[in-house]
Amino acid sequence: MPVLHSLKVKFVAALVLLVSLVIGLSTWWTLEVHRGHMLHATEDKVRALTEAIDRGIHVAMREGRSQDVQRILEGVGRDPDIEKIIIFDTHGKILRASQPDLVGRVLDRDRLSRYLDQPDFAVTGLHENGRLVQSVVKKIRNRPECFACHGTGEAVNGILHVDMSFRKTQEQIREMEGTALWTMLLTAAVLAAGGTILMVRLVERPVGSLMRAMAKVEGGDLETRAHLGRRDELGQLAQSFNAMVDRLKAARAEIEVFHQQRLARAERLATLGELAASLAHEVKNPLAGIAGAIQVMADELPETDPRKEIMGEILDQVHRLDKTVRDLLAFARPGKPDIGPCDIHQVLDRVLILLAENPAAKQVRVVRAYQAGIPSLDADSKQLGQVFLNLLLNAIQAMPTGGQITLKTTLREMDGTDGNTSMARDRVVEVALTDTGPGIPPHLLQDIFNPFFTTKHRGTGLGLSVSRRIVEDHGGWIDAESRPGQGATFRVCLPVETLTRQTGEPLP
Ligand code: ADP
Repeated sequence: MPVLHSLKVKFVAALVLLVSLVIGLSTWWTLEVHRGHMLHATEDKVRALTEAIDRGIHVAMREGRSQDVQRILEGVGRDPDIEKIIIFDTHGKILRASQPDLVGRVLDRDRLSRYLDQPDFAVTGLHENGRLVQSVVKKIRNRPECFACHGTGEAVNGILHVDMSFRKTQEQIREMEGTALWTMLLTAAVLAAGGTILMVRLVERPVGSLMRAMAKVEGGDLETRAHLGRRDELGQLAQSFNAMVDRLKAARAEIEVFHQQRLARAERLATLGELAASLAHEVKNPLAGIAGAIQVMADELPETDPRKEIMGEILDQVHRLDKTVRDLLAFARPGKPDIGPCDIHQVLDRVLILLAENPAAKQVRVVRAYQAGIPSLDADSKQLGQVFLNLLLNAIQAMPTGGQITLKTTLREMDGTDGNTSMARDRVVEVALTDTGPGIPPHLLQDIFNPFFTTKHRGTGLGLSVSRRIVEDHGGWIDAESRPGQGATFRVCLPVETLTRQTGEPLP
């Protein structure tokens, strides 16, 4: 499986992304708040410092220590956060400065007029050296105590300009940003590692062992079971999986038994068939010879000869034997179905007409419950006729004192495979033949389709086995249902469209 499709990778990536996003946003917000506070604190500090310098200048000037002003400025200017402090006159000439080399320089006109035109102000901006600087400009007023030296003509004696950098604040902010970034990276790494371990322990390992068990079962090993040793959802899944494999195993065992039974029956049939065929072959010709000879002898006897009756009886028995031999041959070497379009109702009606001649049939009422619109089948109508003749004869023989036979046809939709056979079919025509005879005892139901199984004095026990073979050769199936005392129902199902087995192998 590609790494990107792995549940573990998806989960850990989503976790790390989500947590990083949350931490990132909250850190950014905290930093913004801190930055604002620190900038305000620096502004307040510059203002306070400017006020202090202003007051210091006044005191020094009042006491006639004008030289002290330069010293105060140089002293305060040693603070690494102070970029510069200058005092200039209204013509822009720098009178005092924290850096002595600035004294005597003159400010350009634009700047000067900006300072003069505005009241005292504080502004934050970028210094020439690229640092963020807070500038405070304050006019030094000409107060009464200054009049002695400065006269009364000017309202302003000079302008004090303090530039203080945010170096420390910026350093602190950078430090905080660094810490936040590392915290975020560390949290992401811890989460990725923790998430991976959790995913491996809670999901990947159990799912992996479940998948391995599934692959083994898929490969045909039904002994495999998934043992996760846990009671969570995955544990329950493993239990359901095990239960499913148990059921699969039981179903496979059942199918194996079923196939073995079929195989055994096929083998038995093949052996019996061979035996029956060779026996029938041996018996057939001499039987014809005997019948011929008896017929000739009987023909030569005068009508009044009592031996003629005996000859007739012998001939009857020989004909019965001949029928048995023919049945045997039909069972052992059934002809290939001669497939063609076949109307099932026509087949049934033809058999009924044939039976009407049978004296035993006269006692039986036949009810035809044909479904309209049954499609034509691809089948051998002669062979199907033989099947229904066998079934009808059995029903008639089961009701010597009369009764009723119901012939019901139904078109059925089937999907997939049916429990009885492994043939593929979509639509089947079902012919159900129900009689009102004594029924079949439950313990005999499984034997009636076996060759030579009969409960009749003169039966061959081949009718149902031949019928079953014909129906199966048509891709269909036949079964019987009966409750003693309540008659029997024989159901013949024939596929409408397909005559191929599920394996795709065409039927013989
Ligand atoms: P046979 O008719 O020669 O006995 P079959 O194979 O046709 O051979 O039938 C096997 C047995 O199934 C019958 O001997 C009978 O016991 C039972 N049987 C078949 N059809 C019916 C039926 N309609 N009612 C009761 N028993 C039946």
